[in-house]
Formats: sequence, structure tokens, C-alpha cells
Amino acid sequence: MDEVEVPESHPRYESLLTRHRIEAGVEMGITSQQGLIAQGRGEVFDYLLGEETIPSADEAARAAAARLLLADHPVISVNGNVAALVPGETVELADATGADVEVNLFNRTEERMAAIADHLRDHGAEDVKGLTADGRIPGLDHERAKVDADGIGDADVVVVPLEDGDRAEALADAGKTEIVVDLNPLSRSARSATVPIVDNIIRAVPNVTAHARDLADASEADLRGVVEAFDPDAALVAAEEAIREGELSGPE
Ligand code: ATP
Repeated sequence: MDEVEVPESHPRYESLLTRHRIEAGVEMGITSQQGLIAQGRGEVFDYLLGEETIPSADEAARAAAARLLLADHPVISVNGNVAALVPGETVELADATGADVEVNLFNRTEERMAAIADHLRDHGAEDVKGLTADGRIPGLDHERAKVDADGIGDADVVVVPLEDGDRAEALADAGKTEIVVDLNPLSRSARSATVPIVDNIIRAVPNVTAHARDLADASEADLRGVVEAFDPDAALVAAEEAIREGELSGPE
């Protein structure tokens, strides 16, 4: 991926880099055109958040890390936007938490599934799940319900960044502990999450990894303390306040 065209000194470096990655993702056949629209929606919220990780999102990231470290079988779900924006960072998070990585698409095509799996392997993933599709999430139509039985089907904790609202709700109804990354605190995905991280995935995934590394030697009791200290409703309220009341000066 050619990222040299955006100078790091540019005031909107991160936002331009993000667009560039999504565009490249579409060109590579890993991101759908719908993904471009989702990115546009996300950008608006990020602009209003000042394009930074707000304190409640950082607390959510720490709670997410603790949940992943406590999990029996954590799985990170990857769609076309996630694969385009944070492929290497997702693999690092999986390594830091012992999670599986599973490709899971809203508009599932075998070509795109394979292209994303290859892209993740190019970024260091060893075992990419999602291609077997021998499990089902109850309450969703056939194509949307497909998961790997030994992946998301068997997971107790799932990370679903940028998940569509219906599937996020169905996963929660299936009893999964859900960690959602979504810039919109009002989205059904964020609202159905056990741990909603209202932050750009570009910042959120490396931040959860950093917290997981920091907590790597913590006792189970300490991890449970981190989990219990986090209040998802308060985090959503804090994010909505930041968006509604933030100064509209934009990022420096
Ligand atoms: P709902 O959950 O309310 O049903 P939706 O399924 O219609 O929403 P989409 O249009 O699929 O949502 O949009 C995807 C979501 O991902 C949006 O809420 C958007 O804010 C969020 N999003 C897009 N890009 C990013 C990003 N880079 N980081 C974090 N969140 C993002």
C-alpha cells in the first residue's frame, strides 16, 4: 500500500491516511463500496470528537483488554473496513490476547472472504477463520448468520468493530460478550455492546493492545476489578456529550 503521498505534517494526516487505506481496500477487492459510506459516517463523529481518544473510550479499551484476557475463547471479527484500516494492528491484538481472527462480512462473497484472509495473512495472521462457515448465529437471515462453529460460534467474547446493528444485537442475544468499536454512540451496535469503545478503529485497536500488554501480568482479581469498574451506559453518555458539546474547532 502506497502511503507516501500524505505528508505526516499535514494537519489532517490521520484522516487522509484513513481515506487512502479505505480507497486502497476497495481497489484491492477487500472493502465493499458500502464500506466507503460507513467510513463517511464514522468520519463525521470522529471530527466532532476532535479526532482523539476521549477518556471514556480509553477506559472502555482497558475494560475490553481485561475482558479479552479473562476470556476462554476470544475472537476478533474482521470485515472489509477493518481489514483495510488495521490489518497488522488486528493481528497484534490477537497475539496480545490469544484471540482468534475471523472474517465476517455483511455482504459475503467468497472472493472478498478469500481476499481479506490473504490480506490478513500478509500482515502476519497464521490461522484465519470464517471460510468454513459451518455455524449459525440465531435470529439472522442465512447469509448474515454464517460463522465458523469453532470461531465466533464457540466464542465467549467477540470483538466486533464496525458491526452492523442487526448482527451486533443477534450476537448479544446469542449470549456473547461483545466488545464493539463504533464512532457513533447512538448506533444499535454500540448500544448492544457489553463494552462499547466509541473511538476510531485506527486508534482503538492499538490502544486495546497496549492495555492488554500492560495488564498481561495482572491477577484474575485485578482483571475482574477493571471489568467491574467500567460502566457502558456512562461511557455512551460521555461520548454523546463530547460529540454534542465539543468545541467545533476541529483537530489542531
Ligand atoms: P446501526 O448500528 O445504528 O444499525 P448501521 O448498521 O447502519 O448502524 P453502518 O452504516 O453500517 O451502521 O455504519 C457503520 C458504523 O461504523 C457507523 O456507526 C460508523 O460511525 C462506524 N464507523 C465507520 N468508520 C469507523 C471507524 N474508522 N472507526 C470506528 N467506527 C467507524
